[in-house]
Amino acid sequence: MEKCPACMTLVSPGQPICRRCKTDLSVLLNMETQAQMHRKMALDAFEKQAFEEMFDHAKRSAALINSPDAGRLLAGAAVLAGKYETAVNFFNQEKSSNSRSHK
Ligand SMILES: [Zn+2]
Repeated sequence: MEKCPACMTLVSPGQPICRRCKTDLSVLLNMETQAQMHRKMALDAFEKQAFEEMFDHAKRSAALINSPDAGRLLAGAAVLAGKYETAVNFFNQEKSSNSRSHK
């Protein structure tokens, strides 16, 4: 279940407008759809061992949706594509956010 970014009411997947505050959710839905598309393309590229391509799609996916999954995919793609700086930055961010939350 997704939440309306404006009023935090739960909205059903695919719902274009928030029932409560009438916020247009289609922009958000488009971003999610695009992020999922790039994630899938990244995984396809991974199977072809086209790691540069995988990294490119993972980066787009992570830029659209800042989820831990997208971040992990990007970090993995960064390592495979030899972009160690991006991977190291990601793991450093993970480390600092983990120490802040005291899991
Ligand atoms: Zn709303």
